[in-house]
Amino acid sequence: MVNYLTKSKYLSGLQCLKRLWYEQNHPERATPTSRSQQRIIDQGGEVGRLARERFPEGRLIDARDSVESVEQTQAAISSGIPYIFEASFILNGIWVRCDILEKDSDSWKIIEVKASNNIKEKNKDKYKEEYLHDLAIQKYVLTEVGISISGTQLMHTNKKCVHPDLSNLFVTEDVTDRVDQLMDDVPNNIETFKAILDRDAEPEVLIGRHCNKPHTCPFKDHCWKDVPEHSIFTIPQLYWNKKTELIERDILSIHDVPDGFPLSENQRNYVNMARNNQPEIDNEAIRQKLEELKYPIHFFDFETLNPAIPRFEGLSAYQQFPFQYSCHILQSDGSLTHHEYLHTYATDPRLSLVESLLDHMSDVGSVVVYHASFECQRLKDLAQFFPGHSEALQSIISRLWDQLVIFRNHYKHPGFRGSNSLKYVLPVLMPSLSYEDLKIREGDDAQAVWNEMIQTTNEEEKSDMINDLRAYCEMDTLATVEIHKALLRQVDEL
Ligand code: SF4
Repeated sequence: MVNYLTKSKYLSGLQCLKRLWYEQNHPERATPTSRSQQRIIDQGGEVGRLARERFPEGRLIDARDSVESVEQTQAAISSGIPYIFEASFILNGIWVRCDILEKDSDSWKIIEVKASNNIKEKNKDKYKEEYLHDLAIQKYVLTEVGISISGTQLMHTNKKCVHPDLSNLFVTEDVTDRVDQLMDDVPNNIETFKAILDRDAEPEVLIGRHCNKPHTCPFKDHCWKDVPEHSIFTIPQLYWNKKTELIERDILSIHDVPDGFPLSENQRNYVNMARNNQPEIDNEAIRQKLEELKYPIHFFDFETLNPAIPRFEGLSAYQQFPFQYSCHILQSDGSLTHHEYLHTYATDPRLSLVESLLDHMSDVGSVVVYHASFECQRLKDLAQFFPGHSEALQSIISRLWDQLVIFRNHYKHPGFRGSNSLKYVLPVLMPSLSYEDLKIREGDDAQAVWNEMIQTTNEEEKSDMINDLRAYCEMDTLATVEIHKALLRQVDEL
């Protein structure tokens, strides 16, 4: 089998030479694709299929074999058709496929389809480099094999597209000038990557920012396996230039950070706290926060999905909608009840969910959530879409109380490993309660499982997935109940 330098390997090489080498020589070192990652991959395929539907006169090159797909492409070009999908080209061991080629007189335009509303860097008026490089390698190969390229474009999902009118699901932006600025680098990059792939020994590359940029590297678990639990990566708001300096000095443990190393007061306090294994807890501030709570106290959480292709009325591309909630209700006498809703069909879950929620939630009492802005926005969306329930939903919004604030401001513990996430806080405050025994342990996986569950025709599988989803969401709110009780014990003991 020929080991081509493909488009995806080219992009891997730009991220990290070791990643490129591993992909060819040690693919087994990659962390297996998770359910949530597979959902994103499948979604990308579906977006690509819908993009092709926009060009009914196009022809799909469906051969998977490299040589056969190139032959099919040549035949399609010769036939004079205006659009070719998955057009395939080989140049000196490099193999690229183009999402869409559009005929433009005697030339062609390359259109790269992206399942993303955001094709620019966050908070910057700059296209994402990875997208431009993706087009640059395609343009280079096509030009070298004698195809004249008149332009390069990004076709991506449009956040203004609202279900049910999907006619504007895509917008196209011309990035020819930006791609042309990268063209001079392509031959050098190819030469470097081919040399790396020819090596027997793995290239020496330190871990660093590139392990997460532009995407989390699939070899991260492997390369980061020696990073200690209390590492420099847990120091709050430490810039990458400082982390890099420490990595280059082979300092990964927080215990080895030199005393004179420049850190802010907050960072130095964190380092000292971790070294002494002494949490910093402002019990008085916690007591005051807890006194804000009114019974019955609701401990509440949504599970949501945000598909690229809007699925139900009024939703836009990538807009979140809830499909499940869990709510524990704690009364002043200490009694605790649990309520939940899980939508188990492929229909719109929102109205049934809202009705269940309003049935079970009291119209008085606090609503404890973890990371309130997320639940708040979902409730606002529901209130806007169901004006008849707006008042009751607004009442819930007005009673939201964010447990995360305590761990952001008043409770620091080295066991949180620099995170405020429930998954890190819970094991420290309630070691007996754990996500470890659950089949679903992350919200992203819950999304993927729900998406599978509503589509499966296997009743046994469906029933198992329903149980797994219920167990996961219930754990999220039970965790906040138990954390609440632990906090009460903590301040009462003073
Ligand atoms: S984890 Fe980092 S160092 Fe390792 S291969 Fe990936 S990007 Fe390179």
